[in-house]
Amino acid sequence: MLNRANRWRVALRPALIFSASSTAPSACQRSFCRHGRQPPPVADLPSRTTPAGIGDPVERLAAGFQHFKEEVYEKNHALFTQLASSQQPKFMVFACADSRVCPSVVFNFQPGEAFTVRNIANIVPPQDKTRYSGVGAAIEFAVLQLQVENIVVVGHSRCGGIDKLMSIKEDGTTSSGFVEEWLKICLHAKEKVQTQHAALPPEDQLTLCEKEAVNVSLQNLKTYPFVKELLNKKKLRLIGAYYNFVLGTIETWEI
Ligand SMILES: [Zn+2]
Repeated sequence: MLNRANRWRVALRPALIFSASSTAPSACQRSFCRHGRQPPPVADLPSRTTPAGIGDPVERLAAGFQHFKEEVYEKNHALFTQLASSQQPKFMVFACADSRVCPSVVFNFQPGEAFTVRNIANIVPPQDKTRYSGVGAAIEFAVLQLQVENIVVVGHSRCGGIDKLMSIKEDGTTSSGFVEEWLKICLHAKEKVQTQHAALPPEDQLTLCEKEAVNVSLQNLKTYPFVKELLNKKKLRLIGAYYNFVLGTIETWEI
């Protein structure tokens, strides 16, 4: 494993994030606590949608925006006035597209605080202007234009992408789909885990691979010359993170 000099754990309460029916404050409400304002009662929050009762999706969007407008936008005029002219995020964050692991919720990022890229399994590909220009453009913009000071790659528990990676066949047969091709960026993580931890049950191997894939992405970040240069000048930090939403914990490390 790579050096984990800055590893820490913070107990979170999953109910804060995933249960609108809970009496605990939501992540959105917590942002108000940070500014010393009284959070609105939970009953005022937009109801969560379920497959059985999604209602009209446009109305759901409208209700969600109305809540944001009244409880966030209109109560933080100074912040949004400032953001109208520029953004100066200190963080670039890579997170999985999984609906359960929104980094702005998990880390309580405020608007303007994190420049975020989300994709299947929170993967940073190596520099390749032809195959991965979208991700490369985001990194280039964040590092050279926004001058972020930290790039964080956030892995998570029960990642469907990493689970798929673990099941990619060894016999050379491949799917023609996008997902498998994308996940192969992290094949080294899978091979490392299956070689070094072959005796562990599959669920433990999955957890290790979810973390090791973050390390692959952190190493891939170093293939971008402007990232490498700022790392050498100690003007940029690369941080790995692992959010376990089942246990409500998070750990971070640096390379
Ligand atoms: Zn995932």
